[in-house]
Amino acid sequence: MKEVFTGSFTQQEPIPEAGMTAAMAVMQHGRLHRYNLAPGEVPEVARLEQEFAAYTGAKYCLAVASGGYAMATALRALCVGPGDTVLSNAFTLAPVPGAIANVGAVPVFVGVTEALTIDLDDLERKVADSGAGVLLLSHMRGHVCDMDRLMEICDAADVKVVEDCAHTMGARWGDVPSGRHGIAGCYSTQTYKHMNSGEGGFLVTDDAELAARAVLLSGSYMLYDRHGAAPDRDVFEGLKYDMPNMSGRMDNLRAAILRPQLAALDAQCAAWTERYRVVEAGLRDVPGLTLIERPQAEAFVGSSFQFLLLDWPDAAIRGAVGACKARGVELKWFGAAEPAGFTSTYDHWRYAPAERMPDSDLILRGVLDMRLPLTFSLDDCALIARIIADEVGEAGAGLRAAE
Ligand SMILES: *Cc1c(COP(=O)(O)O)cnc(C)c1O
Repeated sequence: MKEVFTGSFTQQEPIPEAGMTAAMAVMQHGRLHRYNLAPGEVPEVARLEQEFAAYTGAKYCLAVASGGYAMATALRALCVGPGDTVLSNAFTLAPVPGAIANVGAVPVFVGVTEALTIDLDDLERKVADSGAGVLLLSHMRGHVCDMDRLMEICDAADVKVVEDCAHTMGARWGDVPSGRHGIAGCYSTQTYKHMNSGEGGFLVTDDAELAARAVLLSGSYMLYDRHGAAPDRDVFEGLKYDMPNMSGRMDNLRAAILRPQLAALDAQCAAWTERYRVVEAGLRDVPGLTLIERPQAEAFVGSSFQFLLLDWPDAAIRGAVGACKARGVELKWFGAAEPAGFTSTYDHWRYAPAERMPDSDLILRGVLDMRLPLTFSLDDCALIARIIADEVGEAGAGLRAAE
């Protein structure tokens, strides 16, 4: 009998008990809006901002309504506007080009390598050719590129780097936390990310003016002194008449849910990576399957797993995906012709036309992806790997026999 997996790839853990208790307290007092305070009260959102700033080592932190909002706000606070070009990854998810479109700017997509990171040679070329002043760098699926070289390329051309850390909250390159290499880091606390408040996000920076602009943009009603990790009042003076209110605040209910999760984040990240390593070990020697080798300097969070089926015909990939699905293992295929679920590739974003990147297309065509929620045990992960090894191995052997 063939083994079957019965877990759900989209089932996250419950909110920690402490988060539920804190959320009840907020509901009981009724002051859910971040600026609605009792005398002397420091609200949950301000505390969360202080704690997330401390966690990342950033001077300033703004909690917002989503990761996409954080990215668009970072771009707007950097004065990116209609018609400007913004460099970004060809391999990412829809909220990233969406954030660029949000400010009326035009993405210039940069290719992807077999390490599933941004192609730094292509970046170097496009930095020179595009004239873009900003790179919105997506650490897609938690893969972190050589950040030292990336920052060298961008610093040399005075290109500002905004990091999309939706999949790297808690990760590092060398000693530097993800989100702390560029001028701003953006994070998401949407259900499928590393902390779960349904929707939510953060923007962190050491740049006082950027932080003040972002606070004003988020809809602070001139109540910026009620923030937890914002710049001093005087930084706002020169800016407050020029920043529109584009409401995207976080509320106290979500912050209450998130604070205990932040306290547990490092342990959660370690648990994800433990699961990742089990799957990786189980897929080491599968014919036709290419693993993504992780660099030494990359302290990643293994909340999802990717592998490549390079040069496989579409029908064979579809066959392997179908065979895994029949045994309960849901693989997402980035090479599919139509965007489905959370997968899409740069040619699906027709509002942002891009020139073709044949080398990247070959890689994207072969990317398979799955989540590893913490509701999976290590045994679950070993079983998932056995099923993939079985089905992909069989299809791979069939392909080679046909050659
Ligand atoms: C989830 C995600 C975001 C942010 O998403 P929101 O849903 O807006 O919080 C940004 N980038 C990537 C790559 C993502 O997966």
